[in-house]
Amino acid sequence: MYVKFFRCFGCDATYLPEEVESLQIMRCEKCGSALDAEYDYESIKKEIISDSFRRDTPTHWKYWPFLPVSDLSSLVTLGEGATPLLEHPAITQTIGAADLYFKYEAQNPTGSFKDRGSSLEITKALELGKNKVVVASTGNMGSSIAAYAAFSNMECVVFVADVAADVKVAQMRAHGADVRMVDDDYCIAMNEAENYVRNNNDSFLTGDYPWRCEGTKTVGFEILDQLYWKVPDYVIAPIGNGTLLWSLYEAFRDMVGVGMTERIPRIIGVQAEGCNCVVQAWEDSTQSIEPIDDPITVATAIACGDPIDGLAALKAMRESDGLGVSVNDDEILAARNELARHGILVEPSGAVSYAGALKVKDELVEQTAVCIATGHGLKDMQGF
Ligand SMILES: *Cc1c(COP(=O)(O)O)cnc(C)c1O
Repeated sequence: MYVKFFRCFGCDATYLPEEVESLQIMRCEKCGSALDAEYDYESIKKEIISDSFRRDTPTHWKYWPFLPVSDLSSLVTLGEGATPLLEHPAITQTIGAADLYFKYEAQNPTGSFKDRGSSLEITKALELGKNKVVVASTGNMGSSIAAYAAFSNMECVVFVADVAADVKVAQMRAHGADVRMVDDDYCIAMNEAENYVRNNNDSFLTGDYPWRCEGTKTVGFEILDQLYWKVPDYVIAPIGNGTLLWSLYEAFRDMVGVGMTERIPRIIGVQAEGCNCVVQAWEDSTQSIEPIDDPITVATAIACGDPIDGLAALKAMRESDGLGVSVNDDEILAARNELARHGILVEPSGAVSYAGALKVKDELVEQTAVCIATGHGLKDMQGF
């Protein structure tokens, strides 16, 4: 494993990988903020800088040196990653971009990019000898963890926020998860999951904690790889808990770190108007994020009023010279419908990046941009 240590976003405290592994709730013990992994790039360089690394087909576990695993013989995989990078000429033209790609994450085993993080989290849970996992979810996280847990003969408890689409809950039940409906928003579901792990020593907490962030980086690696290591000008993604946005930044930073690329693309974070606390902080140039109570949006997968990785997402936008954008429900559904009419089916949250792209069209003229199409349309067909 090439992780040197984890650093706290809030207070800069550092933790060794084994210290992080022994935390019940993987956040800074001193200030409660999220933790960020730092790698030994010099050693990774020796491992990956070869023709075969450039040539090998982009898939999730191809990038194992950038993931915190020690035993490659016990990886848990359902074939996550290796998702297509799609371009539709009419859409590219609408925006006026040189190229506008969609990283179609719907093609993951359970229909969203969550599978990248789940693959790593369940691998870590097994590595640490656990056979029961617990998670809070607005739908996709729970259905993903439920599948990977079932595949590994682990028990799975999901605390589900009230916004979750029925199909996502059915997905969890199909995989045999113990589904506990929380009659409230995601923040409350998260508290319940954290309380559960405190009271059940044999369980392992999954969700937007450090392992997931590391696992999600592979979406960024694949984008660079699929563009033959030519760095796009912009990458556009929705913000729910902010984990995806931060993982993208980390991925681009890692590849600069090992010398595969020379710069980080500008990262555009997009939130729904009913739940835009990170974008608010970006617009107001503040250092803290004001949580939103009971967020409401048609994009249920990003209805997180107090994002765990909100500060990290803000940092990703700021340090990459990016942007924060809000879009309303009408704009989200219009973007989703347009994608569907061009053959790209996503759930409302999966169209948030494109709705954001339409909003900042002027920025994208003659540029190369990649929108993350995060989740499958069949999971939530409202309005069709
Ligand atoms: C989880 C999710 C998001 C938001 O990702 P975060 O990492 O929470 O910011 C967006 N779209 C879909 C479909 C998701 O499942």
